[in-house]
Amino acid sequence: MSIIKRWEHFFLSDAVAWLAAIAVGGMIFFLNVSLDLDAASTLFYIALVFMSADIFTVSVFLIVALGCLVMLSANFIANEGYLDQDLVAGFVHRLIVLAAITLLALRSKKASSLLRRNEAVFLGAQKLSRTGSVGIIIGREVRLWWSEESSRIFEYPLDVTPTIALVRARIYPEDLRIVDRALEQVANHQDFIEVEHRLVMPDGRIKHVQMNARPLSKHVGYIEYVGALMDITASKQSEEALFHSQAKLSEVTRLTSMGELAASIAHEINQPLAALITSGECCKRWINRPEPNLDEVRKSIDRIIQNSVRVSDVITCIRALSRHSEAQRTVERFDDVVSDSLALMQHDITFHEVRSQIQLGAPDAMIRADRIQLQQVIINLIINACQAMASVHDRARVLSIQTSVREGEAVLEIADSGDGISTEILPSLFDPFFTTKPTGLGIGLSICRSIIEFHGGRIWVSSTLKIGTRFVFTLPLERET
Ligand code: ADP
Repeated sequence: MSIIKRWEHFFLSDAVAWLAAIAVGGMIFFLNVSLDLDAASTLFYIALVFMSADIFTVSVFLIVALGCLVMLSANFIANEGYLDQDLVAGFVHRLIVLAAITLLALRSKKASSLLRRNEAVFLGAQKLSRTGSVGIIIGREVRLWWSEESSRIFEYPLDVTPTIALVRARIYPEDLRIVDRALEQVANHQDFIEVEHRLVMPDGRIKHVQMNARPLSKHVGYIEYVGALMDITASKQSEEALFHSQAKLSEVTRLTSMGELAASIAHEINQPLAALITSGECCKRWINRPEPNLDEVRKSIDRIIQNSVRVSDVITCIRALSRHSEAQRTVERFDDVVSDSLALMQHDITFHEVRSQIQLGAPDAMIRADRIQLQQVIINLIINACQAMASVHDRARVLSIQTSVREGEAVLEIADSGDGISTEILPSLFDPFFTTKPTGLGIGLSICRSIIEFHGGRIWVSSTLKIGTRFVFTLPLERET
């Protein structure tokens, strides 16, 4: 226990409080009796009441206050003050003053202990939830303040006064522009500010924080914002771990199913092809004989036709497999399919630091579609858009998504502010296995086109270099049932 704590403990122990109160009270009583200074003694009693309200517990304080009242009365009786009319009036007056001050001191003591308790609960809650408070005041000069928990999040000593320079020193360099944008919003007196960014500690550890702030008071040339600063590192890490395992899982599933599919296609086609070669060679042998055996030749040709039909059947099956069956198409609300796909992509959009502008303008449009396939198309277009904007650093990364109904069709437009596509490669975009990415497969857009055409729609792209790319697809509307 520190010296100060020990001293406090010593001071607050009830026995010592008793002794101190009796000693001071006795001394005042003695002064009062011996020197006959009524007004001065009342002042001493008032001072004693105030003092004890500050340092003693409620029960000790009440006993001290009661003691003062008793001593004041005892002194009055001992001096036979009741014999004089004027002295009685003065005594009653002093008694009322002392009692009123006792009540007031008691009230303020209760209020301040409630305040202390609330503060302790508040600080405890901040520590538990890893949420601190922060504030910025913009007047003649810019001033910052923060709670203990905020200084712990920033890992500065508790007694350090925060400044913009200290805050910036902890911001992850790539996220400085996010913080600068938030400061601009503060300067523009925006009503609500929400930012999420990373911090980098002196030992290289990365923290993720989220801050929401609102103006507390503002008048001409002055504004104060208060905000909550949350350390979301743990939830970010688990979110990222989940995202990585999901991505890995879908990659493994895709490769496994593609590998399995390729193996089964090879097997299904190899057998009839081998039979075709054998039948062709037999046919040649029967014809090359000095006397060709036309019956055997006919039989071989029949086998060739049978095996060719088999190969063609296998290919028809593969087509059906890639297109799914008609039975999975149901009537869907177009905007719902789009917003569900967006919800699935929220993590990617945030991860790529992309601002999304969503305008769902076809609330009544119904379509007949395979929901999963359509989501696959939308997700693929969003992934491509986010990837196309990854290299953009000199302007805002904006993903704009709009739905509408035009000429009896439901329309979805997905536009990005990426670097665009050159006119030479634009016509090849939907070709299978066309890719410009080092690890791309180049089948995403060709699958998108086959799904949209299978649903009776159209898909196209337009692009301007250094401005961005816009993919549009349309689907026929279904009459609402
Ligand atoms: P992948 O993404 O595997 O390359 P895709 O078929 O989805 O396959 O895309 C084919 C190519 O189209 C991409 O490699 C890229 O060059 C181009 N592309 C697609 N979407 C965009 C876009 N929004 N902006 C710029 N280029 C794009």
